Amino acid sequence: MAEKLNVGVIGGGYAGMAAAAELASRNIPVTVFESAQQLGGRARGVYYNDTRLDNGQHLLLGCYRETLRMIELVGGDIDQDFLRLPLQLDLHDQFSLRAPRLPAPLHLLIALLSAQGLTWSERIKAASFMLTLRNANFRLDQLPLPQAGEGRGEGLSDITVSALLAQHKQDADLTFKLWEPLCIAALNTPIQKASAHVLLNVLRDALNQSRADSDMLLPRIDFTALFPQRAASFVERRGGKVHTSCGVEAIRSLEDEFEIITTPSAVRPEPVEGHSSVHVSTGSTRTEDVSRSYRFSHVICAAPPVVAAKLLRPIAGLANTVAQIDALEHQPIYTLYLQYPAHVTLPHPMIGLHRRISQWLFDKGQIAGQHGLLAAVISAEGIHQELSQDELAQKVIAELRDEFGIAEQPQWFKVIAEKRATFCCSPNLQRPAQQTALPRLLLAGDYTAGDYPATLEGAVMSGVRCADLIRAQSE
Ligand SMILES: Cc1cc2nc3c(=O)[nH]c(=O)nc-3n(C[C@H](O)[C@H](O)[C@H](O)COP(=O)(O)OP(=O)(O)OC[C@H]3O[C@@H](n4cnc5c(N)ncnc54)[C@H](O)[C@@H]3O)c2cc1C
Repeated sequence: MAEKLNVGVIGGGYAGMAAAAELASRNIPVTVFESAQQLGGRARGVYYNDTRLDNGQHLLLGCYRETLRMIELVGGDIDQDFLRLPLQLDLHDQFSLRAPRLPAPLHLLIALLSAQGLTWSERIKAASFMLTLRNANFRLDQLPLPQAGEGRGEGLSDITVSALLAQHKQDADLTFKLWEPLCIAALNTPIQKASAHVLLNVLRDALNQSRADSDMLLPRIDFTALFPQRAASFVERRGGKVHTSCGVEAIRSLEDEFEIITTPSAVRPEPVEGHSSVHVSTGSTRTEDVSRSYRFSHVICAAPPVVAAKLLRPIAGLANTVAQIDALEHQPIYTLYLQYPAHVTLPHPMIGLHRRISQWLFDKGQIAGQHGLLAAVISAEGIHQELSQDELAQKVIAELRDEFGIAEQPQWFKVIAEKRATFCCSPNLQRPAQQTALPRLLLAGDYTAGDYPATLEGAVMSGVRCADLIRAQSE
Protein backbone atom coordinates (compact mmCIF):
# COMPACT_ATOMS: atom_id res chain seq x y z
CA MET A 1 0.00 0.00 0.00
CA ALA A 2 2.09 2.92 -1.25
CA GLU A 3 -0.10 5.70 0.14
CA LYS A 4 0.16 8.47 2.64
CA LEU A 5 -0.83 7.23 6.05
CA ASN A 6 -2.93 9.45 8.28
CA VAL A 7 -4.43 7.80 11.35
CA GLY A 8 -7.36 8.92 13.51
CA VAL A 9 -7.51 7.52 17.05
CA ILE A 10 -10.83 7.64 18.93
CA GLY A 11 -10.25 7.67 22.71
CA GLY A 12 -7.35 9.02 24.74
CA GLY A 13 -7.12 6.28 27.37
CA TYR A 14 -4.04 4.10 27.78
CA ALA A 15 -4.87 2.06 24.64
CA GLY A 16 -5.46 5.07 22.38
CA MET A 17 -2.47 7.04 23.66
CA ALA A 18 -0.20 3.97 23.34
CA ALA A 19 -1.31 3.58 19.73
CA ALA A 20 -0.79 7.30 19.06
CA ALA A 21 2.66 7.43 20.67
CA GLU A 22 3.79 4.29 18.87
CA LEU A 23 2.62 5.70 15.51
CA ALA A 24 4.23 9.07 16.25
CA SER A 25 7.50 7.35 17.15
CA ARG A 26 7.44 5.92 13.61
CA ASN A 27 6.66 9.34 12.13
CA ILE A 28 3.16 8.30 11.05
CA PRO A 29 0.74 11.28 11.24
CA VAL A 30 -1.85 10.75 13.96
CA THR A 31 -4.78 12.68 15.46
CA VAL A 32 -6.41 11.69 18.77
CA PHE A 33 -10.02 12.57 19.68
CA GLU A 34 -10.91 12.33 23.36
CA SER A 35 -14.42 13.15 24.54
CA ALA A 36 -13.42 14.05 28.11
CA GLN A 37 -11.61 17.20 29.18
CA GLN A 38 -8.60 15.17 30.18
CA LEU A 39 -6.82 12.11 28.91
CA GLY A 40 -6.53 8.76 30.66
CA GLY A 41 -10.04 7.28 30.53
CA ARG A 42 -10.52 4.77 33.32
CA ALA A 43 -6.99 5.48 34.56
CA ARG A 44 -7.11 9.26 34.91
CA GLY A 45 -6.20 11.75 37.55
CA VAL A 46 -9.02 13.62 39.28
CA TYR A 47 -9.03 16.40 41.85
CA TYR A 48 -11.25 16.40 44.90
CA ASN A 49 -11.03 18.86 47.80
CA ASP A 50 -7.78 20.21 46.37
CA THR A 51 -6.31 16.71 46.53
CA ARG A 52 -4.91 14.78 43.61
CA LEU A 53 -6.61 11.39 43.34
CA ASP A 54 -7.05 8.79 40.65
CA ASN A 55 -10.30 7.63 39.14
CA GLY A 56 -9.42 4.44 41.02
CA GLN A 57 -6.34 3.26 42.86
CA HIS A 58 -4.22 1.28 40.36
CA LEU A 59 -1.24 -1.01 40.65
CA LEU A 60 1.18 -2.18 37.97
CA LEU A 61 3.28 -5.34 37.98
CA GLY A 62 6.92 -5.56 37.01
CA CYS A 63 5.92 -7.80 34.09
CA TYR A 64 3.88 -5.00 32.46
CA ARG A 65 6.69 -4.56 29.96
CA GLU A 66 4.84 -2.68 27.24
CA THR A 67 3.32 -0.17 29.66
CA LEU A 68 6.68 0.51 31.27
CA ARG A 69 8.37 0.76 27.86
CA MET A 70 5.76 3.25 26.64
CA ILE A 71 6.03 5.37 29.80
CA GLU A 72 9.78 5.58 29.20
CA LEU A 73 9.34 6.25 25.46
CA VAL A 74 7.31 9.39 26.22
CA GLY A 75 9.74 10.67 28.85
CA GLY A 76 8.82 8.95 32.11
CA ASP A 77 11.35 7.63 34.59
CA ILE A 78 10.24 4.33 36.12
CA ASP A 79 12.42 4.70 39.23
CA GLN A 80 11.07 8.16 39.97
CA ASP A 81 7.48 7.60 38.92
CA PHE A 82 6.84 4.49 41.01
CA LEU A 83 7.29 3.09 44.46
CA ARG A 84 8.51 -0.44 43.66
CA LEU A 85 7.79 -3.14 46.23
CA PRO A 86 8.89 -6.77 46.05
CA LEU A 87 5.93 -9.17 45.88
CA GLN A 88 4.20 -9.20 49.23
CA LEU A 89 0.66 -10.16 50.07
CA ASP A 90 -0.40 -9.17 53.55
CA LEU A 91 -3.89 -9.76 54.86
CA HIS A 92 -3.71 -7.92 58.12
CA ASP A 93 -3.13 -10.29 61.09
CA GLN A 94 -4.28 -13.29 58.99
CA PHE A 95 -1.83 -14.03 56.23
CA SER A 96 1.54 -12.83 55.05
CA LEU A 97 3.51 -13.90 52.01
CA ARG A 98 6.80 -12.21 51.16
CA ALA A 99 9.09 -13.08 48.31
CA PRO A 100 12.76 -13.15 49.36
CA ARG A 101 15.41 -11.67 47.05
CA LEU A 102 16.12 -14.92 45.25
CA PRO A 103 15.86 -15.79 41.55
CA ALA A 104 12.43 -16.81 40.19
CA PRO A 105 10.75 -19.18 40.76
CA LEU A 106 12.68 -19.94 43.97
CA HIS A 107 11.50 -16.64 45.46
CA LEU A 108 7.91 -17.74 45.10
CA LEU A 109 8.36 -21.29 46.36
CA ILE A 110 10.17 -20.04 49.47
CA ALA A 111 7.47 -17.37 49.88
CA LEU A 112 4.72 -20.01 49.74
CA LEU A 113 6.53 -22.45 52.03
CA SER A 114 7.16 -19.74 54.62
CA ALA A 115 3.77 -17.98 54.32
CA GLN A 116 2.36 -17.01 57.71
CA GLY A 117 -1.27 -17.84 58.43
CA LEU A 118 -1.32 -21.15 56.55
CA THR A 119 -0.89 -24.64 58.01
CA TRP A 120 2.08 -26.70 56.84
CA SER A 121 -0.23 -28.84 54.78
CA GLU A 122 -1.70 -25.73 53.06
CA ARG A 123 1.76 -24.35 52.33
CA ILE A 124 2.81 -27.63 50.72
CA LYS A 125 -0.41 -27.82 48.69
CA ALA A 126 0.11 -24.24 47.44
CA ALA A 127 3.79 -24.81 46.58
CA SER A 128 3.16 -28.10 44.82
CA PHE A 129 0.27 -26.55 42.83
CA MET A 130 2.66 -23.81 41.75
CA LEU A 131 5.23 -26.42 40.67
CA THR A 132 2.53 -28.30 38.74
CA LEU A 133 1.56 -25.08 36.97
CA ARG A 134 5.19 -24.36 36.16
CA ASN A 135 5.76 -27.85 34.78
CA ALA A 136 2.70 -27.32 32.58
CA ASN A 137 4.11 -23.95 31.37
CA PHE A 138 1.07 -22.36 33.02
CA ARG A 139 -1.12 -23.88 30.29
CA LEU A 140 -4.41 -25.52 31.15
CA ASP A 141 -4.11 -27.97 28.27
CA GLN A 142 -0.78 -29.21 29.65
CA LEU A 143 -1.99 -29.75 33.21
CA PRO A 144 -2.56 -33.32 34.33
CA LEU A 145 -6.14 -34.21 33.41
CA PRO A 146 -8.61 -34.16 36.30
CA GLN A 147 -10.57 -37.19 37.42
CA ALA A 148 -13.83 -37.74 35.54
CA GLY A 149 -16.57 -35.36 36.61
CA GLU A 150 -14.19 -32.76 38.05
CA GLY A 151 -14.35 -30.13 35.42
CA ARG A 152 -12.51 -29.69 32.13
CA GLY A 153 -15.17 -30.95 29.72
CA GLU A 154 -14.62 -32.36 26.23
CA GLY A 155 -13.74 -29.69 23.72
CA LEU A 156 -13.56 -26.88 26.26
CA SER A 157 -10.20 -25.20 26.61
CA ASP A 158 -10.98 -23.18 29.70
CA ILE A 159 -12.60 -23.59 33.14
CA THR A 160 -13.30 -21.32 36.09
CA VAL A 161 -10.61 -20.55 38.64
CA SER A 162 -12.69 -22.18 41.39
CA ALA A 163 -12.90 -25.41 39.33
CA LEU A 164 -9.15 -25.36 38.78
CA LEU A 165 -8.49 -24.82 42.49
CA ALA A 166 -10.84 -27.66 43.41
CA GLN A 167 -9.11 -30.00 40.95
CA HIS A 168 -5.79 -29.24 42.59
CA LYS A 169 -7.04 -29.66 46.17
CA GLN A 170 -6.57 -26.04 47.20
CA ASP A 171 -8.82 -26.04 50.25
CA ALA A 172 -11.14 -23.28 51.45
CA ASP A 173 -8.78 -21.44 53.80
CA LEU A 174 -5.97 -21.42 51.24
CA THR A 175 -8.39 -20.19 48.59
CA PHE A 176 -9.77 -17.40 50.81
CA LYS A 177 -6.33 -16.19 51.88
CA LEU A 178 -4.25 -16.61 48.75
CA TRP A 179 -5.96 -17.52 45.50
CA GLU A 180 -9.17 -15.50 45.78
CA PRO A 181 -7.46 -12.17 46.60
CA LEU A 182 -4.92 -12.85 43.84
CA CYS A 183 -7.59 -13.69 41.28
CA ILE A 184 -9.79 -10.71 42.13
CA ALA A 185 -6.82 -8.35 42.07
CA ALA A 186 -5.63 -9.68 38.70
CA LEU A 187 -8.91 -10.36 36.85
CA ASN A 188 -11.46 -8.26 38.77
CA THR A 189 -13.76 -11.25 38.51
CA PRO A 190 -14.95 -13.60 41.30
CA ILE A 191 -13.24 -17.01 41.22
CA GLN A 192 -16.54 -18.76 40.46
CA LYS A 193 -16.78 -16.76 37.21
CA ALA A 194 -13.13 -16.12 36.38
CA SER A 195 -11.15 -17.70 33.54
CA ALA A 196 -8.43 -20.09 34.75
CA HIS A 197 -6.69 -19.68 31.40
CA VAL A 198 -6.30 -15.91 31.78
CA LEU A 199 -5.25 -16.16 35.44
CA LEU A 200 -2.52 -18.61 34.42
CA ASN A 201 -1.30 -16.15 31.76
CA VAL A 202 -0.85 -13.51 34.46
CA LEU A 203 0.84 -15.96 36.87
CA ARG A 204 3.15 -17.12 34.05
CA ASP A 205 4.32 -13.59 33.31
CA ALA A 206 4.44 -12.33 36.90
CA LEU A 207 5.87 -15.29 38.75
CA ASN A 208 7.83 -17.49 36.47
CA GLN A 209 10.70 -15.61 34.87
CA SER A 210 12.55 -12.79 36.54
CA ARG A 211 11.98 -11.92 40.19
CA ALA A 212 11.41 -8.28 39.23
CA ASP A 213 8.39 -9.34 37.15
CA SER A 214 6.42 -9.95 40.34
CA ASP A 215 7.30 -6.54 41.82
CA MET A 216 4.36 -4.28 42.57
CA LEU A 217 4.65 -0.74 41.19
CA LEU A 218 2.60 1.99 42.85
CA PRO A 219 2.64 5.31 40.99
CA ARG A 220 3.76 8.43 42.82
CA ILE A 221 2.02 10.68 40.29
CA ASP A 222 -1.53 10.54 38.95
CA PHE A 223 -2.47 8.32 36.04
CA THR A 224 -3.07 11.13 33.56
CA ALA A 225 0.37 12.58 34.30
CA LEU A 226 2.04 9.17 34.31
CA PHE A 227 1.49 8.37 30.64
CA PRO A 228 -1.35 9.92 28.61
CA GLN A 229 -0.36 13.54 29.19
CA ARG A 230 3.28 12.82 28.38
CA ALA A 231 2.17 10.79 25.36
CA ALA A 232 0.13 13.80 24.12
CA SER A 233 3.18 16.06 24.33
CA PHE A 234 5.26 13.38 22.59
CA VAL A 235 2.69 13.09 19.77
CA GLU A 236 2.42 16.86 19.38
CA ARG A 237 6.20 17.28 19.26
CA ARG A 238 6.16 14.94 16.27
CA GLY A 239 3.47 16.91 14.47
CA GLY A 240 0.46 14.90 15.63
CA LYS A 241 -2.68 16.36 17.20
CA VAL A 242 -4.56 15.59 20.39
CA HIS A 243 -8.06 17.03 20.75
CA THR A 244 -9.61 16.81 24.20
CA SER A 245 -13.29 17.64 24.89
CA CYS A 246 -13.87 16.28 21.41
CA GLY A 247 -16.11 13.23 21.28
CA VAL A 248 -16.63 11.22 18.12
CA GLU A 249 -20.24 10.79 17.12
CA ALA A 250 -19.86 8.63 14.01
CA ILE A 251 -17.38 6.86 11.77
CA ARG A 252 -18.19 6.65 8.05
CA SER A 253 -16.54 4.13 5.79
CA LEU A 254 -15.80 5.78 2.42
CA GLU A 255 -14.22 4.17 -0.61
CA ASP A 256 -10.61 4.23 0.51
CA GLU A 257 -10.69 6.28 3.68
CA PHE A 258 -12.74 6.92 6.79
CA GLU A 259 -14.57 10.02 7.90
CA ILE A 260 -14.81 10.83 11.60
CA ILE A 261 -17.62 13.12 12.75
CA THR A 262 -17.17 14.83 16.10
CA THR A 263 -20.04 15.93 18.32
CA PRO A 264 -21.24 19.56 18.27
CA SER A 265 -20.56 19.79 22.01
CA ALA A 266 -16.98 18.96 21.16
CA VAL A 267 -16.20 22.58 20.35
CA ARG A 268 -15.86 23.86 23.88
CA PRO A 269 -13.70 26.62 25.27
CA GLU A 270 -10.34 25.54 26.57
CA PRO A 271 -10.66 24.19 30.10
CA VAL A 272 -9.19 26.58 32.64
CA GLU A 273 -5.98 25.32 34.19
CA GLY A 274 -6.71 24.39 37.75
CA HIS A 275 -7.81 21.74 40.10
CA SER A 276 -11.01 20.74 38.38
CA SER A 277 -9.31 19.20 35.38
CA VAL A 278 -5.99 17.89 34.24
CA HIS A 279 -5.37 19.85 31.11
CA VAL A 280 -3.27 18.72 28.20
CA SER A 281 -1.06 21.18 26.40
CA THR A 282 -2.52 21.21 22.93
CA GLY A 283 -0.17 23.40 20.93
CA SER A 284 -1.61 23.64 17.43
CA THR A 285 -4.71 21.69 18.40
CA ARG A 286 -6.66 24.23 20.40
CA THR A 287 -10.33 23.32 20.61
CA GLU A 288 -11.51 26.37 18.65
CA ASP A 289 -9.60 24.98 15.65
CA VAL A 290 -11.58 21.77 15.79
CA SER A 291 -13.88 21.26 12.81
CA ARG A 292 -16.50 18.56 12.82
CA SER A 293 -15.45 16.22 10.06
CA TYR A 294 -12.06 14.65 9.44
CA ARG A 295 -10.74 12.10 6.94
CA PHE A 296 -8.16 9.44 7.64
CA SER A 297 -6.52 6.57 5.81
CA HIS A 298 -6.93 4.45 8.99
CA VAL A 299 -8.99 4.67 12.16
CA ILE A 300 -8.20 3.06 15.51
CA CYS A 301 -11.27 2.93 17.70
CA ALA A 302 -9.94 2.94 21.28
CA ALA A 303 -13.17 3.97 23.00
CA PRO A 304 -14.60 1.79 25.79
CA PRO A 305 -16.57 -1.27 24.60
CA VAL A 306 -20.07 0.23 24.90
CA VAL A 307 -19.07 3.29 22.86
CA ALA A 308 -17.08 1.20 20.36
CA ALA A 309 -20.16 -0.98 19.71
CA LYS A 310 -22.28 2.14 19.15
CA LEU A 311 -19.78 3.61 16.69
CA LEU A 312 -19.19 0.36 14.77
CA ARG A 313 -22.81 -0.89 14.63
CA PRO A 314 -23.85 1.20 11.59
CA ILE A 315 -20.78 0.16 9.55
CA ALA A 316 -21.36 -2.72 7.11
CA GLY A 317 -19.25 -5.85 7.61
CA LEU A 318 -18.69 -5.50 11.35
CA ALA A 319 -21.65 -7.48 12.71
CA ASN A 320 -19.42 -10.20 14.23
CA THR A 321 -17.20 -7.69 16.00
CA VAL A 322 -20.20 -5.79 17.35
CA ALA A 323 -21.82 -9.04 18.54
CA GLN A 324 -18.63 -9.97 20.42
CA ILE A 325 -18.54 -6.55 22.11
CA ASP A 326 -22.25 -6.70 22.96
CA ALA A 327 -21.74 -10.09 24.61
CA LEU A 328 -19.19 -8.74 27.12
CA GLU A 329 -20.36 -8.41 30.71
CA HIS A 330 -18.80 -6.00 33.15
CA GLN A 331 -17.51 -5.92 36.71
CA PRO A 332 -17.28 -2.92 39.06
CA ILE A 333 -14.42 -1.48 41.12
CA TYR A 334 -15.08 0.87 44.03
CA THR A 335 -12.35 3.09 45.43
CA LEU A 336 -12.99 4.93 48.68
CA TYR A 337 -10.53 7.72 49.47
CA LEU A 338 -10.39 8.89 53.08
CA GLN A 339 -8.44 11.92 54.23
CA TYR A 340 -7.33 11.45 57.83
CA PRO A 341 -5.02 13.72 59.82
CA ALA A 342 -1.47 13.59 58.43
CA HIS A 343 -0.10 11.36 61.21
CA VAL A 344 -2.42 8.44 60.34
CA THR A 345 -0.57 5.62 58.59
CA LEU A 346 -0.96 1.92 57.79
CA PRO A 347 1.63 -0.76 58.64
CA HIS A 348 2.53 -1.11 54.92
CA PRO A 349 1.98 0.99 51.78
CA MET A 350 -0.48 -1.71 50.62
CA ILE A 351 -2.25 -4.14 52.91
CA GLY A 352 -5.23 -6.46 52.49
CA LEU A 353 -8.06 -7.33 54.86
CA HIS A 354 -9.45 -10.83 55.29
CA ARG A 355 -13.23 -11.25 55.01
CA ARG A 356 -13.94 -7.54 55.27
CA ILE A 357 -15.64 -5.11 52.87
CA SER A 358 -12.30 -3.39 52.14
CA GLN A 359 -10.14 -5.75 50.14
CA TRP A 360 -6.95 -3.71 49.75
CA LEU A 361 -5.89 -0.54 51.54
CA PHE A 362 -3.27 1.86 50.21
CA ASP A 363 -1.42 4.43 52.29
CA LYS A 364 -0.90 7.34 49.89
CA GLY A 365 1.37 9.00 52.46
CA GLN A 366 3.93 6.19 52.10
CA ILE A 367 3.38 5.90 48.35
CA ALA A 368 3.16 9.49 47.17
CA GLY A 369 3.76 11.75 50.18
CA GLN A 370 0.01 12.49 50.54
CA HIS A 371 0.03 12.05 54.30
CA GLY A 372 -3.12 10.78 55.98
CA LEU A 373 -4.76 9.91 52.65
CA LEU A 374 -5.89 6.26 52.53
CA ALA A 375 -7.56 4.43 49.64
CA ALA A 376 -9.75 1.36 50.15
CA VAL A 377 -10.32 -0.74 47.03
CA ILE A 378 -13.22 -3.13 46.57
CA SER A 379 -12.94 -5.07 43.32
CA ALA A 380 -15.56 -7.15 41.49
CA GLU A 381 -19.25 -7.61 42.26
CA GLY A 382 -20.43 -8.08 45.84
CA ILE A 383 -22.72 -7.04 48.63
CA HIS A 384 -21.02 -3.65 48.89
CA GLN A 385 -22.97 -2.65 45.78
CA GLU A 386 -26.17 -2.72 47.84
CA LEU A 387 -24.88 -0.05 50.24
CA SER A 388 -25.26 3.68 49.81
CA GLN A 389 -21.96 5.55 49.49
CA ASP A 390 -22.35 6.84 53.03
CA GLU A 391 -23.05 3.36 54.43
CA LEU A 392 -20.06 1.98 52.56
CA ALA A 393 -17.81 4.71 53.93
CA GLN A 394 -19.01 4.11 57.50
CA LYS A 395 -18.25 0.39 57.17
CA VAL A 396 -14.75 1.06 55.88
CA ILE A 397 -14.13 3.64 58.63
CA ALA A 398 -15.23 1.03 61.21
CA GLU A 399 -12.91 -1.58 59.65
CA LEU A 400 -9.97 0.85 59.82
CA ARG A 401 -10.78 1.49 63.49
CA ASP A 402 -11.13 -2.23 64.34
CA GLU A 403 -8.10 -3.43 62.41
CA PHE A 404 -5.62 -0.59 62.95
CA GLY A 405 -7.02 1.38 65.89
CA ILE A 406 -7.60 4.51 63.78
CA ALA A 407 -9.95 6.27 66.18
CA GLU A 408 -10.20 9.62 64.36
CA GLN A 409 -12.92 10.35 61.83
CA PRO A 410 -11.66 11.24 58.34
CA GLN A 411 -11.86 14.93 57.44
CA TRP A 412 -13.57 13.90 54.21
CA PHE A 413 -14.15 10.81 52.10
CA LYS A 414 -14.90 10.27 48.44
CA VAL A 415 -16.36 7.11 46.90
CA ILE A 416 -15.54 6.54 43.23
CA ALA A 417 -17.73 3.73 41.93
CA GLU A 418 -16.80 2.51 38.46
CA LYS A 419 -19.67 0.20 37.58
CA ARG A 420 -18.08 -0.89 34.30
CA ALA A 421 -14.50 -0.89 35.47
CA THR A 422 -13.51 -3.97 33.46
CA PHE A 423 -15.07 -6.72 31.40
CA CYS A 424 -16.00 -9.85 33.33
CA CYS A 425 -13.10 -12.18 32.52
CA SER A 426 -15.00 -15.46 32.21
CA PRO A 427 -13.83 -18.74 30.62
CA ASN A 428 -13.75 -19.11 26.83
CA LEU A 429 -14.57 -15.46 26.25
CA GLN A 430 -14.45 -14.47 22.58
CA ARG A 431 -12.81 -11.05 22.52
CA PRO A 432 -12.77 -9.00 19.31
CA ALA A 433 -9.49 -8.90 17.39
CA GLN A 434 -7.62 -5.63 16.87
CA GLN A 435 -7.96 -6.11 13.12
CA THR A 436 -11.61 -5.78 12.13
CA ALA A 437 -13.07 -7.13 8.87
CA LEU A 438 -12.28 -3.74 7.32
CA PRO A 439 -8.49 -3.63 6.86
CA ARG A 440 -8.14 0.08 7.72
CA LEU A 441 -10.35 0.03 10.79
CA LEU A 442 -8.76 -1.28 13.98
CA LEU A 443 -9.83 -1.76 17.56
CA ALA A 444 -7.75 -1.02 20.62
CA GLY A 445 -8.75 -1.39 24.25
CA ASP A 446 -8.30 -3.61 27.28
CA TYR A 447 -11.28 -5.71 26.13
CA THR A 448 -9.81 -6.66 22.75
CA ALA A 449 -8.15 -10.03 22.10
CA GLY A 450 -5.05 -10.75 24.13
CA ASP A 451 -3.47 -12.79 26.88
CA TYR A 452 -4.29 -10.35 29.65
CA PRO A 453 -7.42 -9.46 31.57
CA ALA A 454 -8.65 -5.84 31.54
CA THR A 455 -5.47 -4.10 32.65
CA LEU A 456 -3.29 -1.19 31.65
CA GLU A 457 -0.91 -3.70 30.08
CA GLY A 458 -3.70 -5.28 28.02
CA ALA A 459 -4.81 -1.80 26.89
CA VAL A 460 -1.29 -0.67 25.95
CA MET A 461 -0.47 -3.93 24.16
CA SER A 462 -3.62 -3.61 22.05
CA GLY A 463 -2.71 -0.04 21.07
CA VAL A 464 0.82 -1.02 20.08
CA ARG A 465 -0.55 -3.96 18.09
CA CYS A 466 -2.81 -1.60 16.11
CA ALA A 467 0.20 0.56 15.28
CA ASP A 468 2.12 -2.57 14.19
CA LEU A 469 -0.76 -3.69 11.96
CA ILE A 470 -0.98 -0.28 10.27
CA ARG A 471 2.74 -0.18 9.67
CA ALA A 472 2.66 -3.72 8.26
CA GLN A 473 -0.12 -2.69 5.85
CA SER A 474 1.94 0.23 4.59
CA GLU A 475 5.06 -1.83 3.82
C1 LIG B 1 -11.20 1.72 39.45
C2 LIG B 1 -10.30 0.95 38.51
C3 LIG B 1 -9.17 0.33 39.00
C4 LIG B 1 -8.34 -0.38 38.14
N1 LIG B 1 -7.19 -0.94 38.63
C5 LIG B 1 -6.29 -1.45 37.76
C6 LIG B 1 -5.00 -1.85 38.22
O1 LIG B 1 -4.68 -1.79 39.41
N2 LIG B 1 -4.11 -2.31 37.31
C7 LIG B 1 -4.42 -2.40 35.98
O2 LIG B 1 -3.55 -2.79 35.19
N3 LIG B 1 -5.64 -2.02 35.51
C8 LIG B 1 -6.58 -1.55 36.37
N4 LIG B 1 -7.78 -1.12 35.91
C9 LIG B 1 -8.10 -1.31 34.49
C10 LIG B 1 -7.49 -0.20 33.62
O3 LIG B 1 -7.79 1.06 34.14
C11 LIG B 1 -8.09 -0.33 32.23
O4 LIG B 1 -7.85 -1.63 31.75
C12 LIG B 1 -7.49 0.67 31.24
O5 LIG B 1 -7.43 1.96 31.78
C13 LIG B 1 -8.36 0.65 29.98
O6 LIG B 1 -7.81 1.54 29.03
P1 LIG B 1 -8.49 1.72 27.61
O7 LIG B 1 -7.70 2.73 26.89
O8 LIG B 1 -8.67 0.37 27.00
O9 LIG B 1 -9.96 2.24 27.90
P2 LIG B 1 -10.47 3.61 28.58
O10 LIG B 1 -9.57 3.98 29.69
O11 LIG B 1 -11.90 3.41 28.88
O12 LIG B 1 -10.28 4.71 27.43
C14 LIG B 1 -11.25 5.00 26.48
C15 LIG B 1 -11.26 6.50 26.24
O13 LIG B 1 -12.22 6.79 25.22
C16 LIG B 1 -12.86 8.01 25.56
N5 LIG B 1 -14.14 8.09 24.83
C17 LIG B 1 -15.34 7.54 25.15
N6 LIG B 1 -16.25 7.84 24.22
C18 LIG B 1 -15.62 8.58 23.27
C19 LIG B 1 -16.03 9.18 22.05
N7 LIG B 1 -17.29 9.07 21.60
N8 LIG B 1 -15.13 9.89 21.35
C20 LIG B 1 -13.85 10.03 21.78
N9 LIG B 1 -13.41 9.47 22.94
C21 LIG B 1 -14.28 8.74 23.66
C22 LIG B 1 -13.02 7.91 27.07
O14 LIG B 1 -13.25 9.17 27.66
C23 LIG B 1 -11.68 7.31 27.45
O15 LIG B 1 -10.70 8.30 27.70
C24 LIG B 1 -8.66 -0.47 36.76
C25 LIG B 1 -9.82 0.15 36.27
C26 LIG B 1 -10.62 0.86 37.13
C27 LIG B 1 -11.83 1.55 36.57
